[in-house]
Amino acid sequence: MSVDLLGWIAGGILVLGGVCLLYRALLSDRSRGRRRCARCWYDMDAVAGLRCPECGRQARVEAGLRRTRRHKARAAMALGVLLLGCLAAVAPRLIRDPWNTLPTPVLSVVLWFHDDPSDTIFSNLTAALYSGKTTSFDRIMLARGCARRLRDRVGAAPGGIPPMPSGAGPTLANYWYAPSARVLDVIWRLGREARPAIPAVIEVSRTGAAADKMAAISTLVTLWPGTDDLRARVVQCLDEDERTRTAVLGAIATGPRPMDEVVGPILRAVQREKDSAGSTGAQVLARLGDGATPALRALVGDRRDVVRNIAIASLGMRRDAAAVPLLTPMLRDSSYKTRSSTIMALHRIGAASTPALDGLCRLAAEEPRITVRVSAVMALVPIGGGDARVVGALAAALADPKAEVRRAAAGELRGLGPAAAAAEGALAAAAHDSDESVASAARAALEAAGKRQ
Ligand SMILES: [Zn+2]
Repeated sequence: MSVDLLGWIAGGILVLGGVCLLYRALLSDRSRGRRRCARCWYDMDAVAGLRCPECGRQARVEAGLRRTRRHKARAAMALGVLLLGCLAAVAPRLIRDPWNTLPTPVLSVVLWFHDDPSDTIFSNLTAALYSGKTTSFDRIMLARGCARRLRDRVGAAPGGIPPMPSGAGPTLANYWYAPSARVLDVIWRLGREARPAIPAVIEVSRTGAAADKMAAISTLVTLWPGTDDLRARVVQCLDEDERTRTAVLGAIATGPRPMDEVVGPILRAVQREKDSAGSTGAQVLARLGDGATPALRALVGDRRDVVRNIAIASLGMRRDAAAVPLLTPMLRDSSYKTRSSTIMALHRIGAASTPALDGLCRLAAEEPRITVRVSAVMALVPIGGGDARVVGALAAALADPKAEVRRAAAGELRGLGPAAAAAEGALAAAAHDSDESVASAARAALEAAGKRQ
């Protein structure tokens, strides 16, 4: 028989005995029709009136003579036995593992006054949090415990950094090696209830050692939607050293959707960055709402390929007609990737891209990269429709040395229908193209234009 079971049996017997004693003390000696003095319990059945002949007590009403006799000392004894029973039941556990036996509210109060060096109380409250078994009071206490740990620079467990729990803060996962990571993960799980710990997190994000600082920044970004002081600190981080800027941009890029009000600081960070962090910043801007569109326009001419291509693609996705004057010169960019993203962006923007039509016609004729040339050919009709320049450029593309380009041009002319009539000569020649798919596309275009072969 285990010690625990013995404890429960002994406790159970004591509790049962305590309940019996309590009943006897408080409820068993009822009046049952007898008239008794409520002070000395003299039997007054034979006495007329309300005054006790024994002690002289005057009852105010008849009911005063019919009270239940309660034995206070015995009741107290019974309560003592009950308590003893409860203690006996948990005694084996209490002796073996005191902190785990205490209910979490008690633990929380203990935590308030005393943060034990053995880490047990904090661990137990944390475990309760991870299994969803805390009250809101526990969580506030836990947040206070976290704040204390961050302030005192007490890291994770004394034994080193514990394995990362599943579902750790997504942005924090990058900095799990930081000594403060576990505390910050608790804060992340506490969410809005972590408020008491926020000043400490901000303090670590300012003055912590590198890894802790980054972990704190990640946590700030995760918690950020809720609170102004956090947002202010995030904006501040964007103006700090390169490492901090990179960390905060990375955290924003993988964290929850950021707010438009950080556009300015992010743009500044992107424009200042010399390394790849600039592309992270550009990606963050691309994820933002309409508030970020002016910042993306400002990045169209960035000297880094990656940054300007992200900006150009994002402006295209936004169908930003105001960006067309900025995009048009990019058709002459030395990087074919930029020329390609610009064509696609103008294509998406559609009819509003007409000012770029001449540049696109030139690319359809002169672009050295075949795929880019094909994109240019395919963008002409969506932007210029049946414009004479479009038909002329497509007719010229029918004589392109590459079959892919000729096929695309014939397909586009076919889509124009009767508007392609001006290209009849070129189409008639293409109808005998050495490439059968080009020839059949050209014949189809002639038919659509009403010029049957
Ligand atoms: Zn009496």
